[in-house]
Amino acid sequence: MVTMRPHDILIPTTEGLCCKPGGFHIDPVRPVDRAVITHGHSDHARAGHGAVLATQETLDMMRLRYGDDFAGSTQAISYGEEIRLGGARVKFHSAGHVLGSAQVAVECGGIRIVASGDYKDAPDPTCTPFEIVACDVFITEATFGLPVFRHPDAADEVNKLLASVALFPERAHLVGAYSLGKAQRLIALIRAAGYDAPIYLHGAMEKITQYYAERGVTLGELRPVKGVKKAELAGAITLAPPSATSDLWTRRFPDPLTAFASGWMRVRARARQRGVELPLVISDHADWDGLTATIAATGAGEIWVTHGQEDALVHWCRSNGLAARPLDLVGYGDEDEDVGMPASEAAEA
Ligand SMILES: [Zn+2]
Repeated sequence: MVTMRPHDILIPTTEGLCCKPGGFHIDPVRPVDRAVITHGHSDHARAGHGAVLATQETLDMMRLRYGDDFAGSTQAISYGEEIRLGGARVKFHSAGHVLGSAQVAVECGGIRIVASGDYKDAPDPTCTPFEIVACDVFITEATFGLPVFRHPDAADEVNKLLASVALFPERAHLVGAYSLGKAQRLIALIRAAGYDAPIYLHGAMEKITQYYAERGVTLGELRPVKGVKKAELAGAITLAPPSATSDLWTRRFPDPLTAFASGWMRVRARARQRGVELPLVISDHADWDGLTATIAATGAGEIWVTHGQEDALVHWCRSNGLAARPLDLVGYGDEDEDVGMPASEAAEA
């Protein structure tokens, strides 16, 4: 009998990570017959697949975004649940990234590979905590895979925002935040800090935020910003997608003060370049310490590194006696979050 090797189980293809023995792809970037999807961000969850296996939350988010016929068929799977696909066993575990986000453990021929998608080990009131899954091969993201990236406590960052609101009650506080995950986490953190005035929302984040509230995430009173009188927004907090905070849309706000919640706000040049007055370093991705601690905790002897700053993390793994290689997957980082900054810019930090 021929012994299975990890790349017989999962292999990068132009469609995404392919499990040949299981007959499926993980987070495929092109339409495939059977897709296993880690979370709802649009660079991971795309429309047009035959069958989709994902958590109920991820399926719901895809439905909200793409409409009812986003896939030929769907199957919901819970954290801790295992199913057999072809010759492989597939089990979902929480990734702590956004509501419903999952790591996918694939087991075949006695080898377990965990594809973690995007993840963070920092606390987040809007989703289930990250779970460490013991495995032979761990596939990690590397969005913040440089030692310079160490995210501060998100609650302290939110306190900066609230201090500014108290200091400038005549100014509208316009906070750029990604519509899926970051916006809702920010609202939950603002509420946890004791702020209970209404929070205003850009139209693009209303549906998904409503969905979080329906799933039991406490977000307090939210109002659409559309149609609200300019004077009413003085001293109020409004959340909007990052692209909206730098265009004509901001003219409806009295003396707007622009904030932006992103892990990239650690890079001062990035904040300046975007005209961000109040950078808030809040990320839904693990920072350098989170990445390295997680890699060590999985006990995996082999690490595959993808989307982000692969080189430094591969180097760290090898220095720590682990086999490691970059996984050349393309097509990730379009919507998601903080992903997508050129390495040269990150290096300035
Ligand atoms: Zn993501």
